[in-house]
Amino acid sequence: MRAVVQNDKKRARRTVHTSVHTSRRAAMGPAALTLAAAALLSGCAGGSTPPAGHGGPARAADPRAAAAAEHARLAAAARRWGLDRAPLTPPAPPAEKPRITPRDGFEVDGQEEEGLPPVFTTIPTKQRVVFLTIDDGAEKDPAFLRMMSELKVPYSAFLSNYLVKDDYGYFRRMQARGVTLNNHTLTHPYLPGLTYEEQKDEICGMQTVMKRQFGKAPTVFRPPYGNYNGDTLRAAKSCGIKYAPIWDEEVFVDHWEYRDWDRSLHPGDIVLTHFRGRDDWDGTMVDDMRRFLDKVTREGYAVARLEDYL
Ligand SMILES: [Zn+2]
Repeated sequence: MRAVVQNDKKRARRTVHTSVHTSRRAAMGPAALTLAAAALLSGCAGGSTPPAGHGGPARAADPRAAAAAEHARLAAAARRWGLDRAPLTPPAPPAEKPRITPRDGFEVDGQEEEGLPPVFTTIPTKQRVVFLTIDDGAEKDPAFLRMMSELKVPYSAFLSNYLVKDDYGYFRRMQARGVTLNNHTLTHPYLPGLTYEEQKDEICGMQTVMKRQFGKAPTVFRPPYGNYNGDTLRAAKSCGIKYAPIWDEEVFVDHWEYRDWDRSLHPGDIVLTHFRGRDDWDGTMVDDMRRFLDKVTREGYAVARLEDYL
């Protein structure tokens, strides 16, 4: 029974993808038309002279034409990936970074005196943005990389070595697309059950791996399961970590979970999901992202880059 249902679902999904592919060429038509119309419009409006010293044709330099073309491109990409609507464009990164403090009740002894990395679930901002963070690294779905690039959705990855070491290349490709790769330990243990030295090995060991594999040791770290103690933050600090974000909401392929009683998104919330595919749950990374994006867009949130606020 279950198998039949899944087959039907797969078939339905395949049908969607097929029609999406065949309509890709058609979708280029309206996009190109919009661009042409926008260019024509600005050409007719008069008074829009290209900026001095700009050698190229006036039309190519017209920001309205470029914006119209980008809007059309994004709308076509949203249709192609089966989204209800195109994701909203986030505001420019804040010129002045917000002051990040630990969430109330999430501090450890010595937090302030020792300057330990804060554990937080939300970035203090009034902007209607949320931050997408993706953990572990088991699933390495090339379609997911394409989807996020085509939709221009930023996210941050928190990698655990035992899951990513069979294919660092996948995450290098992610990094090349502008994604920041962060520390999520070597073997994903329950850190409070380990000694200080053992925790340090897990966190600093992953820093070393990341420096070697990705050219850079991160300053952002997430403890597995969101569990930590004072030793965790002390060890993390000694490895060069400055921030320990956890999350306020978690999205799964078939539902959302909330940390707060009001069960809703708030400006600046950090949302968690995982690199998981059909081996782990009933869907793909693309399905998971569709669930995430449709909700945040429907509620008027844009997805911004976490590291831009740190
Ligand atoms: Zn994890």
